[in-house]
Amino acid sequence: MVRPMNRKPRITVAGAGALGLTTALALADAGAQVAVYDPSPEGTNASAVAAGMLAPVFEAVLDAAAAPHFSLLLAARDLWPALEARIGITVDRAGALAVGEADFLHRVDAGVRRLGLHPTEMPRQAMVDLAPGLAPDWGHGLLTREDWRIDAAATLAALRAAGEAAGVTFHPRAADGFEGGERLVIATGMGRELGVIAPSLARLSPIKGHILRVAGPAYDGVVVRGEGAYVTADAGGMTLGATMQAGAEDLAVEPDRVAALMAAGAKLFPAVAGAQVVTRTGVRAATPDGLPMVGRGRHHGVLLAVGARRNGWLLAPLVARIITACVTEGDVGPYAARLDPGRFGNI
Ligand SMILES: Cc1cc2nc3c(=O)[nH]c(=O)nc-3n(C[C@H](O)[C@H](O)[C@H](O)COP(=O)(O)OP(=O)(O)OC[C@H]3O[C@@H](n4cnc5c(N)ncnc54)[C@H](O)[C@@H]3O)c2cc1C
Repeated sequence: MVRPMNRKPRITVAGAGALGLTTALALADAGAQVAVYDPSPEGTNASAVAAGMLAPVFEAVLDAAAAPHFSLLLAARDLWPALEARIGITVDRAGALAVGEADFLHRVDAGVRRLGLHPTEMPRQAMVDLAPGLAPDWGHGLLTREDWRIDAAATLAALRAAGEAAGVTFHPRAADGFEGGERLVIATGMGRELGVIAPSLARLSPIKGHILRVAGPAYDGVVVRGEGAYVTADAGGMTLGATMQAGAEDLAVEPDRVAALMAAGAKLFPAVAGAQVVTRTGVRAATPDGLPMVGRGRHHGVLLAVGARRNGWLLAPLVARIITACVTEGDVGPYAARLDPGRFGNI
């Protein structure tokens, strides 16, 4: 799919989130000379606050915007084992468990079956083994082993280290153009500064999210997905996410949102009630059809890798592969047409 290059093109990547770093590494591995620009201190972008779920199944079932895109999401997930080996991280493949009232579980069951899969019905004791501390209210749940997870912060660090080892250079400032590169990959999340050379960025809209680190004994169970909240493992307790606030792009912590998230989380894990939490916020960039814009922009030499909504980590290796194939003039694969930035018209 990716052809080796005869000469080393100079590529500027704007943005050091999941999409920018994964793409930068893939380009360097294909033989390009890559420079990454990002003005923000590490840990402040959406990629750093994310829960790190690689969840084609429950995203397609629980998020209406992802529902039509299951095969694409699954194809992206299937690129993770190669990235895992390349950067030396461990992908958690323990799976994800849906827990909730009967009508919620019925909806999940029907949704998973519509994808051609069969969720595994888990009785109470098996659920407690998979998810220690789960509330006693829940008599059974539905497990899929198809949804995986990474540690987002550790993966950002591993991507950066692998990039540096492959010759990628990092520059702690904003890119306001090509910065001397022959091509410019715009992976700036919700940043719009490069809109002059990539008018398609105007198609992006923000979705703010709150996510909580709940202090306490380390939770090392599977991802638990309930109504209005999910819980994932975290070395310092558990991670509880996340709000979806379409149209908001400030990073202010809103106490009422935190309280609602904690209430939903406490229904899953009673220990959440009254626990100390550290709240983080991030802004997802979304397109009108829920898929990112990936590929050539309108201006010569500009490539877009933006708009991954709530699945940027899941999609990152697919985005990297398509951008790299655009640069190497290799095969962009079966999903590139659906992600083409030109699909929203020539703005
Ligand atoms: C609360 C929350 C939970 C989430 N959970 C998950 C999850 O479990 N699984 C999943 O797959 N996804 C999840 N997501 C979504 C995921 O985080 C995003 O889709 C993904 O991080 C987008 O990555 P990105 O590289 O496009 O953008 P970002 O991570 O936002 O990075 C963009 C970077 O570009 C930089 N930048 C901006 N302007 C410029 C410029 N002019 N020059 C240079 N750099 C610039 C910014 O400083 C920033 O570092 C979650 C998001 C949130 C908010």
